[in-house]
Amino acid sequence: MEATNLGLFVLEAIGYFGLMVTLLHFRNRLGLGVFVTALGVMHFMETYLAAVFYVNLPFGVASPGSSVFFAGKLMMILMLYLQEDASTVRQPIYGLFIGNLLTVAIAWILQLHHTIEMSPGNEADFGFLKEMGWLMIWGTAILYLDSIGIILLYERLGRYIKRKVILRFMICGFVLLTFDQVGFFGGLHYFLGVPLSAFWDGWKAKMFAVCVYTVLFALYEIYVRRDGIPAAARSISDVFGDLTFRERYNDLLDRTGRDILTGVYDRSRMELEAPVMIREAQRQGLYGTVIIIDADHFKDVNDNFGHLQGDEVLKAIAGRLGTILRSADRVFRFGGEEFVAVCPGTDHEEGLIVTERLRWTIATSVKTPDGKPVTVSIGVATADEDGVSFTTVLAAADDRLYQAKKSGRNCVVGRSGLVKVG
Ligand code: GH3
Ligand code: MG
Ligand code: MG
Repeated sequence: MEATNLGLFVLEAIGYFGLMVTLLHFRNRLGLGVFVTALGVMHFMETYLAAVFYVNLPFGVASPGSSVFFAGKLMMILMLYLQEDASTVRQPIYGLFIGNLLTVAIAWILQLHHTIEMSPGNEADFGFLKEMGWLMIWGTAILYLDSIGIILLYERLGRYIKRKVILRFMICGFVLLTFDQVGFFGGLHYFLGVPLSAFWDGWKAKMFAVCVYTVLFALYEIYVRRDGIPAAARSISDVFGDLTFRERYNDLLDRTGRDILTGVYDRSRMELEAPVMIREAQRQGLYGTVIIIDADHFKDVNDNFGHLQGDEVLKAIAGRLGTILRSADRVFRFGGEEFVAVCPGTDHEEGLIVTERLRWTIATSVKTPDGKPVTVSIGVATADEDGVSFTTVLAAADDRLYQAKKSGRNCVVGRSGLVKVG
C-alpha cells in the first residue's frame, strides 16, 4: 500500500511539474498569464489537500498537498524567476499573498450564511471553511517569506557556485522547504495540537519531493532548454552560463560607465566610486592614494598628426596605466587627456614609487608616429594626510600636477615636491 502511494506520489509530482513547466516553457506563445493562472488554481488544490488528504508513505504520513503541490509551487516560482526576472516573479508572489487573504476573508463571511442542502448528503462543508482561519493566514505569511527567500538564497549561492544551476536549485528547495516546515508546523502544533512525529514525516515528504523536482529540473535544463535553444543563438561556452537576471544586470553594469575610446572607467563612474573607495579605505584604517595624470603637450600631438593618431596615443597611455597599477586600483578618464587613478591601501611613498614607474614606462614605451616619446606629468596626494574626502585629495593632487607642469613636465610631484625629473 505504501509502495502504491509512493508510486502515485511520484506520478503526481511528474504530472504537476510536466504541466507547469510546459506552460512556463511556451509562455511566449501562450502568454505568461496561462502559467500564472494555473499556478494559482493548483494552489487551491494544494490547500484543500493539505487540510484533509493524508496518505501513508514509506517515510511516514504526509499530504500530497503540502509536499507535491506546495513544494512544486515554490520550485515553479524559482523557475519563473530564472527564466524571467524579479519584476515578473513578484506578480504571482503578491497575487498568491493577496488572494490567500481574500480567501480567508470570504470564508469567514460565508460561514455567516444559512445554507440549504440541494441534494441529499451534499451539504456545505463548514468544517473546511473554518480551516481557512488563522492557520491559513499563518501559512500565507510563510509562503510569502518562502518565495522571497528562495530567490534570495539562489542569488546568494550564485556567489559561490555560479555555474551549478541544478545544485543551486536543489539546495534552495532543501533549505526553504525545511524553513517552511518548521514555520508551518509550528502553527499546526500551536493551533491544532498536531504531534511532533508529523513534523518529521511532513519534512521527509517535502525533501523527497525536492529530489524528484531536481531530477525533473535537470532533465528539463539539459534536454529541453539547452537543446531547444538554436545553436547559433548561444555559444558553447555560454550554454552552461544560465545567468539570472541579476547576474546579467551586474554584468551589464560592469560594462557600462566605461570610456569608449580607452576602455577605462569614465568620469561618471569616478564620481560614484572614487569617494566610496577613499572613504572605505579610511574606514579600514588604510591610506588611499589619488593620482592625476596629464599628457604633456598633447595639443602638439593632435596638431602634428591629427586627432585619430592622438586617440591612439591616449589608448596607449591608458593601456600602460592598466598594466602598472594593481587590480584593486581603479583608473578613470577624468577629461580629454587626463586620467585619475584611485589606489586604496596605498600610502604616499608606495604611491610615488608606482607613479614614477608609470611615468618612466610611458616615457620609454609610448611614442608619436614619428617615434618621439610621449610623456606625462603626474600629481600624487594621499588620504588622510592630504585631505579626508576624495574631492580634497584630488584637488591636492591637481595642484601638484600643476607644479609638475611648471617644473618642466615629464615628472612626478608628491607631498614633498618633485620626485624625479625624467
Ligand atoms: P600640457 O603639457 O600643458 O598639458 O599641454 P597640452 O597640450 O596637453 O595642453 P592641454 O592639456 O590644455 O590640452 C589637452 C589637449 O588634448 C586638447 C585637446 O585637443 C586634446 N584632447 C582632448 N581630448 C582628446 C581626445 O579624446 N582625443 C584627442 N586626439 N585629443 C584630445
Ligand atoms: Mg589637460
Ligand atoms: Mg596636457
